[in-house]
Amino acid sequence: MKKLEQLYEGKAKKVFATEDPNVVIVDYKDDATAFNGIKKGTITGKGVINNRMSNHIMRKLEAEGIPTHLIEELSERETAVKKVTIVPLEVIVRNISAGSFAKRYGVEEGIVFDEPTIEFSYKNDDLGDPLMNAYHAAALKLATWAEINQIKDYAFRINTLLKGFLKSVGIDLVDFKLEFGKIADGQIVLADEISPDTCRLWDETTHEKLDKDRFRRDMGGVEDAYQEVMRRLMGDK
Ligand code: UDP
Repeated sequence: MKKLEQLYEGKAKKVFATEDPNVVIVDYKDDATAFNGIKKGTITGKGVINNRMSNHIMRKLEAEGIPTHLIEELSERETAVKKVTIVPLEVIVRNISAGSFAKRYGVEEGIVFDEPTIEFSYKNDDLGDPLMNAYHAAALKLATWAEINQIKDYAFRINTLLKGFLKSVGIDLVDFKLEFGKIADGQIVLADEISPDTCRLWDETTHEKLDKDRFRRDMGGVEDAYQEVMRRLMGDK
């Protein structure tokens, strides 16, 4: 598959056109940002890990009946995916309190919820991705009610599956962010990535952070933490 012109460059990935109008190639970078782009840095090797890990997880989700944008891993950093129109919502599922949830509600990190929670943010950098409920999303026509309900259903199913995959390798899934897109026929599919950039992952015994919080909070050992998650999830594959 041939890479044609660059369509877009985001914080962590570039997207290229191909000869097929329904297929694009994503190219994962080592660039890392946090706090809506205010903190910038590099996590060496992150692009390779996120590309491989996200594809691995999406293949497993596909096998469990979740439709995703994944077509084919092309190289260490490049993957062919279905071209989608992104639904401009960040969909966040939480199992344990952390990050902005803990801050917003004035609670400590680490409270294990009886049931997972879901929330949306409006994907809009200029506005700082404001929190938004489903009625707001419907009012702004960011998605139809049928699409919102489909997204919620997929998000909770993905949580159950992902929590299971990670628990089996000694990792607790604290929270994560998903993005969904619409393919040409109108079907909603899981898009973007699932990686230590977009999930909070804690070792189940030591509670050590194995995710981007190490970068956000200048804790060091970021590269090793990403490597460790990949090693546990994918072995030597
Ligand atoms: N997240 C993300 N991209 C964002 C915001 C959040 O991938 O733009 C992920 C983040 O890594 C965490 C989860 O979504 O796993 C919940 O993040 P939270 O709302 O607590 O915000 P944060 O503390 O990251 O600002």
